[in-house]
Amino acid sequence: MNVIDTAVERETCAALADVAQQRAFAWPAGFFESVSCYLCGSTDARPFVTAQDDLGGTPGDFHFVRCTRCDLAYQNPRVSLEHIGAYYDDTYIAHRKKRDWGFLTPLFERAMNKLDAAKDHIASRYVSLGAASEVLDVGCAVGTFLDRLRRRSGARVTGVDFKDLSATPSLQGAEFHCGLFYEADLASDRFDLVTMWHFLEHDYDPLRSLETARRVLKPEGRLVIEVPRLDSRTFTWFGSRWPGLQAPQHTVLFDRDTLLRAVRRSGLEVVDYLPYGAFPAYFYLFTGAAFRLLKGRGLNLDKAIAPYFAGQILLLPLLLFEKRLNLAMQTVVCRRAR
Ligand SMILES: [Zn+2]
Repeated sequence: MNVIDTAVERETCAALADVAQQRAFAWPAGFFESVSCYLCGSTDARPFVTAQDDLGGTPGDFHFVRCTRCDLAYQNPRVSLEHIGAYYDDTYIAHRKKRDWGFLTPLFERAMNKLDAAKDHIASRYVSLGAASEVLDVGCAVGTFLDRLRRRSGARVTGVDFKDLSATPSLQGAEFHCGLFYEADLASDRFDLVTMWHFLEHDYDPLRSLETARRVLKPEGRLVIEVPRLDSRTFTWFGSRWPGLQAPQHTVLFDRDTLLRAVRRSGLEVVDYLPYGAFPAYFYLFTGAAFRLLKGRGLNLDKAIAPYFAGQILLLPLLLFEKRLNLAMQTVVCRRAR
């Protein structure tokens, strides 16, 4: 997908949303498209949950269904690839660029560094990197994780993202591919480590991406995938306001079982499964509570950041047990099936 001007796109998106609101959400033709199950191809599904754009606050309802054959939960209809780019604009949290949060800026930067350190910590348990290693991060956003690995280990790092973030300073030491992962020109048997941190649940063809990851992995390479966990406590607590729904960007909602079936169907073997991730479960506790209060009006990050850090201190005793409580995230580590 070519994203030429995100500001213009955002305005277009807002205008479309306004039009849709005035017409009681009669979305423009081509905005949505029907999909069949990503895992088994069936078109038989039952309604599961209706969500709103709780993070961005744009209007409209988005529907998730559950496949009657294999139980996979996915958004159907989904926003077409042509229109979804507008939902990944400059304010999109995962693409955060350096910004000024006043006296909280150091805390914010510390949280971001901590996230990259947590990813590094998980990946290092399965792959030891050196100057001869090759690492690929799929959905790399601004690339701070890759930058960290490159500086620490000397590894050659490559990132793929469908937004062109190649001008970002943290991506300067990386090989960057803009576009869809399964269309990127990447050699087979190349990478010692492939990571997908909160990528797969956004994907428009997750099995094809997993098969591509399998192809580009070295025979002894490892693939690390982190996604929100549908069969987690926070989904039970927040339901249709669960931050893991993240409509309309999330196309698929994996529970433990469907995630493991998806990787196995793609020719991968499970090395390890973790009922947590690098991404802090606290983010889901905070935003889930906020989304319930805001009821789809969107989260103003400037206003939320101080309560966010205050809440983190209050919940510290609970968060010490994060890895055992199945709060929100899951990670699966795989290799090519032998
Ligand atoms: Zn299915």
